[in-house]
Amino acid sequence: MEGLFQHTFKFCPLCKDSLRGKQVDGRKRLVCPKCGWIHYKNPLPVVVCAAKNRNGEILIAKRNFKPGINKWALPGGFVESGEIPKAACLRELEEETGLKGKIKRLIGVYIQKTREYGSLLVIGYEVSVSKCNLSLNNELKDARFFNKKNLPVIPFSSHREMLKQMQNDLK
Ligand SMILES: [Zn+2]
Repeated sequence: MEGLFQHTFKFCPLCKDSLRGKQVDGRKRLVCPKCGWIHYKNPLPVVVCAAKNRNGEILIAKRNFKPGINKWALPGGFVESGEIPKAACLRELEEETGLKGKIKRLIGVYIQKTREYGSLLVIGYEVSVSKCNLSLNNELKDARFFNKKNLPVIPFSSHREMLKQMQNDLK
């Protein structure tokens, strides 16, 4: 799974020397033999939004970019440096769909592996929206509110886990 991502760095970003594989803190990491820079690989933080309307339907979007291009998924995106995850979640929702939402709760935190970005730390929020007039940007091909008993196929295991957790919490 980590194929593409793993081979991204060949040279030290500080001194341009060639990186070498070395055991650091119990893992093999790329290390610069000249200046000691270590390429720590940490998951990238992503927020994902399960937006519910007043009828309890959930917003699912068809993606226009990798990973998961042309597939249905919950809206979301990367947390920017210095940004609070809740704010990132509402920002992404509004950017992608034009909807203004309110954070209801944290559903859970998950790991999602992708070819494009390696490992992602997925922070999933439940969001309520009162108005449902969608205005999609170019990141999405389609977006609809689905009845929770009739959701489309979603390729991301983290999104599926989030939706399952939401269902379980209702019981
Ligand atoms: Zn270096």
